Amino acid sequence: MAEPRVPGGDGATLDLPCGESVATGKLDMGMREYDCDCGESHAVVMDVHPPSRFVPEFLVDILRETIDTTDENVEFGTLHIMGVVMEEFPEEVASEDVAENPDLGYAMVWVTDFNSRRLHEVVVELIVELMEHAVSHAEDDEAMSQFEADMLNFDVPTFVEQYRKERDFSGPHDRPA
Ligand SMILES: [Zn+2]
Repeated sequence: MAEPRVPGGDGATLDLPCGESVATGKLDMGMREYDCDCGESHAVVMDVHPPSRFVPEFLVDILRETIDTTDENVEFGTLHIMGVVMEEFPEEVASEDVAENPDLGYAMVWVTDFNSRRLHEVVVELIVELMEHAVSHAEDDEAMSQFEADMLNFDVPTFVEQYRKERDFSGPHDRPA
């Protein structure tokens, strides 16, 4: 589909960290990875993807309770997760606000230099850090030591491996929330 590129128009193009670019029209909600012309696969995340794509629901609930979002009308979600990823890896994440193009079915899209497996690990690592931060501010020594004890046995790559195996990523449970 070679649609004419209109700068600033609906046919938005995402400049990827690798130097290639992709038209937002080529990315759809079911996509988890984009096979790029550079030869790599880049993780694709959209605002409509639920945070449970990365971590279990119960953890998402804890995050929502413990983490303050700048806009209290917006609950902690994928938007915040990807915001944190972008803060940590500003050079490796491309994003585009496509809210003006309702046909796409999503309002925000992020494409990372790393693949979806690596992104998953990055996200889980950052979430653990966020929770550690939240717990340490709770001034509850018991909660902190419990958390640290829990985390001693927590191995991010193992968790990601299992979580990805348990969840059928194209299955009915991975629909937008
Ligand atoms: Zn690429």
